[in-house]
Amino acid sequence: MIPQSFIQDLLARVDIVDVVGKYVQLKKGGANYMGLCPFHNEKSPSFTVSPTKQFYHCFGCGAHGSSIGFLMEYSGLSFVDAVKDLALNNGMVVPDDDRMLPAQRAEHTAKSLALSEVMSKACDFYRQQLRGADHAIQYLKKRGLTGEIAARFGLGYAPGAWDSLRSVFPDYSAHALAEAGMVIDKSDEEGAHRKRYDRFRDRIMFPIRNAKGQVIGFGGRILDQGEPKYLNSPETPLYQKGMELYGLFEARQAIRDAGYVLVTEGYMDVVALAQLGFPQAVATLGTACTSTHVQKLLRQTDHVVFSFDGDSAGRRAARRALDACLAHVNDNKVIKFLFLPVEHDPDSFVREFGADAFATEVQNAMPLSQFFIREVSAENDLGTAEGRAKTQFDAKPLLQQMVPSGLRLQLVRNLAQITQSTPAEIESLFELSQPVARAKIAPPKSRRSAPVGLERQVMRILVAHPSLAVMLTPAMLECAAKIAPDGAEMLRQLVLIAQPMGEQANFAALAENLRATGSDFDGLIAEIAEQSESEIGVVGMELTGALRQMRTQVLKMEMEQLAQRGLREPADVARYREIMQLQDAIRREAEQEASNSSV
Ligand SMILES: [Zn+2]
Repeated sequence: MIPQSFIQDLLARVDIVDVVGKYVQLKKGGANYMGLCPFHNEKSPSFTVSPTKQFYHCFGCGAHGSSIGFLMEYSGLSFVDAVKDLALNNGMVVPDDDRMLPAQRAEHTAKSLALSEVMSKACDFYRQQLRGADHAIQYLKKRGLTGEIAARFGLGYAPGAWDSLRSVFPDYSAHALAEAGMVIDKSDEEGAHRKRYDRFRDRIMFPIRNAKGQVIGFGGRILDQGEPKYLNSPETPLYQKGMELYGLFEARQAIRDAGYVLVTEGYMDVVALAQLGFPQAVATLGTACTSTHVQKLLRQTDHVVFSFDGDSAGRRAARRALDACLAHVNDNKVIKFLFLPVEHDPDSFVREFGADAFATEVQNAMPLSQFFIREVSAENDLGTAEGRAKTQFDAKPLLQQMVPSGLRLQLVRNLAQITQSTPAEIESLFELSQPVARAKIAPPKSRRSAPVGLERQVMRILVAHPSLAVMLTPAMLECAAKIAPDGAEMLRQLVLIAQPMGEQANFAALAENLRATGSDFDGLIAEIAEQSESEIGVVGMELTGALRQMRTQVLKMEMEQLAQRGLREPADVARYREIMQLQDAIRREAEQEASNSSV
């Protein structure tokens, strides 16, 4: 781990315009620099680099990040290597990690090397075993696969014996075998180790590769009857199923050629589709589609078609995919949902109706907007006020995830229409950020941005301007917890990270800092990357206003509670009066500020 303080210093010294400018021709345009996006194909520039935010953002594909992020994306460097590279070019020396001793670090590297080696040796072994396994070859032939496709995907066969891998790994008791998920250790009741055996036995083996083509896990399919039908590697230091897509490495070029990617339910679909002339298919691995999956896909292409089986499990999978997409869609992404007849999967469909018919189905797949409306309204009776209200209720969390865009406006309009409301009503009821419909009707009167959930508004300001985090006192955080317990936890986390960064804290350094904590803030970072800059003074006032509103809300809640108790106790009455005075004070404070700022 590189200390965060070093990252902050590094980002303060480096200029992102220089970093990106080495690889992309940039032209000054207003406050920003513009160029052709290196992450997607385009003819007119939609890639911007902001010197104030020290961030890049592409309006075309949504790619964004700091100087470090750019080097990682562009050159495929790891985080540590990107930091080292930047430091080297700017005369800085990366301090040795204080938490990891050199010996530990060497051990760490050796360990992941050992795991990679286990996976690649096992893969070679399974492939070689396939050649001698007649029943496995017969099975693949029966599924219509040629030797060429089997070789392209590196398919193999795990023999039926309990310890076949012993022949590849003479030290069968090695820890790395268990850590790579290739063997299972059974213990007796006292927890003592009893025996070890191969995880995959008598199965067709599908190696799962990462972006670099290295084998990081396996999927194994049973040949005939038996359970489970599909068995995957467990999560290991190399393999996290929520991050990886089966077939993406193999499909890259085909996705570019076809102009879209087809997301299917399993590896058998991917391989069968490749055989049938649709090599642009990938699959999630025994898990619902995640937001990370969607981001990975949208880096490759602007056009994603989810193809799910027509059964109820397929419908549920489609719904999860919709949820995972909303935060990432914008106006030049096309996302569609293909539902095959209940009795078909892509493989059987193509075999029965032919490749052309399948291509037509893909072409006519249901657009996200239509699927969205169907999902939120299907269960509700739009003929009643209650049904329409429930439809709005169901749509709210989904629309709130979306960034302001033309597509969101379309969804708002459709929703308004079927629930007998106006788009502006929907936007204000849902507290959507930067309402699109209202903005189109009348330009906003003040420079303040439109209302959003209070704690989210505060978080957005703090992510963009982390130096303002000092305004979030413990008492303020307590207020937030009373208004919105869920959001408040995230807010608290943000303040905890931003406050120690001090006055010099800026957006890019914070974004790098948040990278280490997980992806909860990805949505906010993307929004800010896209926004035009605002003056710190204006933002400070906006934050003051939002915090004041929080205090007011908490006081109001307390007053209501007191009133409900009937105000019989003298202490209650006294507190009630006190709150009224506090409210007055807050009002005066607000008036004072307003008159100061209008001078
Ligand atoms: Zn782009």
